Amino acid sequence: MSQNPRPPHVLIFPLPLQGPVNSTLKLAELLCLAHIDVTFLVTDHIHARLLRHSNIQTRFSSYPGFRIQTISDGLPEAHPRGDRFLELFDSLKSKTKPLFKEVLRCGGFSCVIADGILGFTCDVANEVRVPIFYIRTISAACLWVFFCIPKIIEAGEIPFEGDDLDILVKSVPGMERYLRRRDLPSFCRSGDLADPNIQLYKTESEENPRAYGLILNTFEELEGPILAEMRSMCPNIYTIGPLHAHLKAKLAAKATSPTAFSNSLWEEDRSCIAWLDSQPPKSVIYVSFGSLAVTTSNQLMEFWHGLVNSGQRFLWVIRPDSIAAKSWESEVPVELSKATKERGYIVGWTPQEEVLAHPSVGGFLTHSGWNSTLESIYEGVPMICWPYFIDQQVNSRLVEEAWKLGLDMKDTCDRSIIEKMVRSLMDVGKEKFLERADQMAKSAKRCLSNGGSSHNNFERLVEDIKSMSAPVPYE
Ligand code: UDP
Repeated sequence: MSQNPRPPHVLIFPLPLQGPVNSTLKLAELLCLAHIDVTFLVTDHIHARLLRHSNIQTRFSSYPGFRIQTISDGLPEAHPRGDRFLELFDSLKSKTKPLFKEVLRCGGFSCVIADGILGFTCDVANEVRVPIFYIRTISAACLWVFFCIPKIIEAGEIPFEGDDLDILVKSVPGMERYLRRRDLPSFCRSGDLADPNIQLYKTESEENPRAYGLILNTFEELEGPILAEMRSMCPNIYTIGPLHAHLKAKLAAKATSPTAFSNSLWEEDRSCIAWLDSQPPKSVIYVSFGSLAVTTSNQLMEFWHGLVNSGQRFLWVIRPDSIAAKSWESEVPVELSKATKERGYIVGWTPQEEVLAHPSVGGFLTHSGWNSTLESIYEGVPMICWPYFIDQQVNSRLVEEAWKLGLDMKDTCDRSIIEKMVRSLMDVGKEKFLERADQMAKSAKRCLSNGGSSHNNFERLVEDIKSMSAPVPYE
């Protein structure tokens, strides 16, 4: 009979989309390394895709305390989910909530870590008397704007009339100097306070301070001033990012062999790594708009012309489901195909962390999703931002204006502007951007080292989780 206390057991429940699943899996592994048992609760839909495309099973086989449990999102198999996010969200709230309650009631969990946009998880956790932490996988900056939506409305700054999007927004403390109407989350442009997105993000963000603590995938050196504002509303914040790099650092410290990470929901095409191997250092601009953005075939052609005309080498992710028109392939002019063969490479999905860490990559044309932004910052890769929706409009403004890590191309999609910006990032302004990106990458690395802010905050999180579980001896 052993007297070892049973380890704490955490239930992690991410928002069922690529970005949040990716970063919460990193958190799950970090907790396993800290000797905490983890049940990772995912929807059947996400689970099936993880089994098909990721290496999650092999990856977690060395952690006996890790298991996956599935839950229904209540939607028919053919539903496009991420593309119609509000329907996914409604279904989670109405259909998944009672199932979640059952999981929590029967699981013997020390605590829950749930995505803070899923406010119903806090109601259930309180009812079942299990402590809850929220995790948000967006930037603190965007979350702070969400927190301030009631203030912005009260100040009459949304809804706004007219089409001058360059007017500064004054009611988000800490961001008065640079936040313009065009940098607000995309749904703020709807001109209607009854817009379901405004209501959703306002209500769910107001809920965040109800949890015991808020875990954020960011770091103090990057978002310190905004975090200071946010702590006035939500005092217990654990900034433990960048999570992907935090995990790598912990694995390296334990001299654990680095299995390639893949939490992908699409099949990775690794041939792009061999292509990158044959390119000169820092010569390639990597182009990817993440897992959800959809472009028109017109926009695709503008990007294509812009990239080709810039004369730079490029690696471009065109996800099979990312173009609105099915017939775009037949529209590609011969000169574009020819130029692409000479200095470009197109794939359906990449191992992105590996791509951004590759010595041949010198720039990133991105949609400013938060995971992509952090991955780029950590590798010291400057960005051109073409935000698609929600948080990305805010992130791209910070990249250009607050952090000086690149250029914000929001609200345009024009071949000559694309060409100009690519040249600026990869040629004319290259040294300046690389130097700045290198400084920020160094501060990201510092915050993960012993005594660094993310390192310390993670230790504090682990201690807090441990203090929540009464040690029960094994039979
Ligand atoms: N990603 C990837 N391969 C690709 C494109 C994206 O592995 O070809 C990953 C990327 O590393 C990031 C995630 O998908 O971790 C996208 O998350 P992000 O928050 O940037 O954007 P979203 O997909 O949520 O819009």
